[in-house]
Order: sequence, then C-alpha cells, then structure tokens
Amino acid sequence: MTTERDASPELATGDLIFIGPPGVGKGTQAKALVQDSGWVHLSTGDLFRDQVRRHTELGRLAKSYLDRGEYVPDEVTVSIVRERLRDIPRSTRIAFDGFPRTVAQAEALDALLREFGRRVGTVILLEAPRDELLARLSGRAQAEGRADDTPEVVAKRLAVYEEQTRPVISHYERRGLVRKVNGAGPVSQITERLRDAVERSS
Ligand code: AMP
Repeated sequence: MTTERDASPELATGDLIFIGPPGVGKGTQAKALVQDSGWVHLSTGDLFRDQVRRHTELGRLAKSYLDRGEYVPDEVTVSIVRERLRDIPRSTRIAFDGFPRTVAQAEALDALLREFGRRVGTVILLEAPRDELLARLSGRAQAEGRADDTPEVVAKRLAVYEEQTRPVISHYERRGLVRKVNGAGPVSQITERLRDAVERSS
C-alpha cells in the first residue's frame, strides 16, 4: 500500500540537525540514532578530519583552523556539505552533526535543502553543564588524542560556540523546529531522551 509518506518521504519527515557545544556528545548521539535506521550521519568535523588524514589541499587548510579551535570558513564548509549531499538520495534522511554552526551556514543550508528537494524536520539542541563538557573533553583528549581537545583549544571552541553558533538556535526557534534534550548523564539515557524527542516531533 502506498501511503503519503511513502510517496514523498522527504517532505513527510525531514532531516535532523544536531546543535550543541563541544563535548556534549553530538557525534556519539547522532551515531547512536542513525544506527540501524538507514539514515546518513553527516558530520562536517568528520569530513574535515578525513581530508586532514588524506593530506589533501582542503585538509591542510582545514587543519589550520581545527588546530586553533576556530571555524573553517563558511564557503569551504558549505561546499564540502554540498558535495556530500549530491551522493545522498532524497528519500534518505540525514542527521547533520556540527553543521550548520553559523547563521550564514544555516541560511546556505536552507537554500541547499531547497535545491536538493529536502527540508529540516527537527533541530535537536543538546545541552549539558559546562563542568560536564570540560570533564568529557579532557577524557576524550586522553582517549582519542584529538589535537583540538587540549585545554587552551577547548576554551577557544566553547567561546566560538557561544559567539557564532548560539544565534543559529534562534534561526530555527523562529520556525518552531527546536527540541531541547538534556545531554547530561550516562550516554544510554541521553540516547533514550533523544529517541523520544525525535519520535515526538516526527
Ligand atoms: P567537531 O568534530 O564537530 O567538533 O568539529 C571539529 C572542528 O572542525 C571544529 O572545531 C571546526 O574547526 C571544524 N568544523 C566542523 N564543523 C564545522 C562547521 N560547520 N563550520 C566550521 N568549522 C567546522
């Protein structure tokens, strides 16, 4: 039987955007959510780290920003997302993780999604107290050895988030798309809260 959802899945559902400060677990939670669901996890941080590992020209450029805890310029970030979007069928939902991070990127994403016949379904705002973010980031620095998890770079990343990414929340709040999820506590509990929020808003 063909339902309206089957006929036009991209319009019936929409993509998911994860917003939250560094260390809140966006990546972990986005991966947990897409597991077994057939959604695509699109992390701009992962795309940049992949370019860095492959020593591409884009990787060299991105590294200079990543290492300082600064954002890669909007045009570069939007173009890497645009390239990735070409490979994703319209009927496959996307969980955007770490994109958009500036108002200019959010506006560019609106245009890109229109171009690709997609739309934003829900924006998940994951939040946790600063102490917990700092504790997780210092744990990750030891476990994964990420160059941008050192205390100085972490402080910079948190400041950049407040200054440049917080306004992105209002961009989506105006459209009634934001669902706040408490990102404090054990990973599995956060995943449960997240699934609830996504189910309720789908
Ligand atoms: P993440 O893995 O999402 O924490 O991203 C790691 C780093 O990649 C960030 O600190 C930025 O330097 C860069 N980055 C990731 N996503 C973006 C974005 N949307 N805009 C600009 N820079 C980004």
